[in-house]
Amino acid sequence: EEQKRAEGVPLPPAARVGGVVADIDTPSLILDLDAFEENLRTMQVLAERNGVALRPHAKAHKCPEIALRQIALGAQGICCQKVSEAVPFVAAGVRDIHISNEVVGAAKLALLARLARQARVSVCVDHAQALHALSGAMGVQSASIAVLVEIDVGQKRCGVQTPDEALALARLAQQLPNVEFVGLQAYHGGLQHKRSLDQRKKSCDKTLQVIRAFLSAFEQAAIPCPIVTGGGTGSAAFDVGSKVFTEIQAGSYPFMDGDYASNDWGHALSFKHSLFLLGTVMSTPTAERAIVDMGLKSTSAESGLPQPADASSGWSCLAINDEHTILQAANAKSRPALGAQVRLIPGHCDPTFNLHDSIVVVRGQQVEAVWPISARGLSR
Ligand code: PLP
Ligand code: MN
Repeated sequence: EEQKRAEGVPLPPAARVGGVVADIDTPSLILDLDAFEENLRTMQVLAERNGVALRPHAKAHKCPEIALRQIALGAQGICCQKVSEAVPFVAAGVRDIHISNEVVGAAKLALLARLARQARVSVCVDHAQALHALSGAMGVQSASIAVLVEIDVGQKRCGVQTPDEALALARLAQQLPNVEFVGLQAYHGGLQHKRSLDQRKKSCDKTLQVIRAFLSAFEQAAIPCPIVTGGGTGSAAFDVGSKVFTEIQAGSYPFMDGDYASNDWGHALSFKHSLFLLGTVMSTPTAERAIVDMGLKSTSAESGLPQPADASSGWSCLAINDEHTILQAANAKSRPALGAQVRLIPGHCDPTFNLHDSIVVVRGQQVEAVWPISARGLSR
């Protein structure tokens, strides 16, 4: 009796492989395989047609199963934003990872060196002190790492400000042991979500001018700069044909979250919604109001509230709390019933994935798999 009490109650899984969507417990994050696979192909084909490598950003999904599918389709490798984030991907067999970020601190550098012994790893630098520390940390473990100098192309985040600074860092990398200068990272996050296609293109053009100025400085200094990596889902259509980028880092394209769906895509590219939140109506306090069993602990909302997957549903999200989402229906007829399952599109994929241990993978109404989101929470 005593021992039985100590055992507790096993937590049943939210979904069963071979089961149906209607039986998935909620809240759950779900991936529509048909749309997801089409999105993967769309971006891969775009990159290949333009002779540019695709290195999808894994911070969007933090899921090795997804990364392995991107690589199987032809992706060069992946990007991670954090060193610890890369750990489950290396464990899953990913052998080419770019840390698209500056890494500062002894513990992180030691972990980075361990990863660099198991996979081809590259990292960004924007300061001589950090480059010295990187070289030293790699040396301690007899590891070697490729280095990209990050340049600030207008985002006003990390990155060197001038071509002279970039040249100095590249030369330093050439002198220091265990680090190899391979090129530049130029990423502009702000322009990805400019709604108008035209405005986005104009911003991309400005960015390209900045990169070209850096590249001509490298050419004059006779320092080869084989890689120029950057770009995101919103700029990819322009970046691939720029003759400047050799590699595209788009991350969100497999999913098409609510924020990206608000972009004007023109005829440039089109991605389908593949990522959904599944919730259940747990209360119907008025004829027009329904409350769903899912809140900020299941979806991010800093890029807008989740929206109905079915645009003609006749209801929308009014507000979101920790564990509730409040739906407002146009009339009593369109209000979902108590117990009904609802499908929502999250506003922003990256932080939403980070809230879930796993994603339920569905084709039509069938559950095909449950994939762990292994890098979830790994922000060190
Ligand atoms: N590269 C870097 C450095 C990023 O920070 C991001 C996203 O924030 C991406 C690529 C991927 O961009 P997106 O998810 O918009 O495709
Ligand atoms: Mn994002």
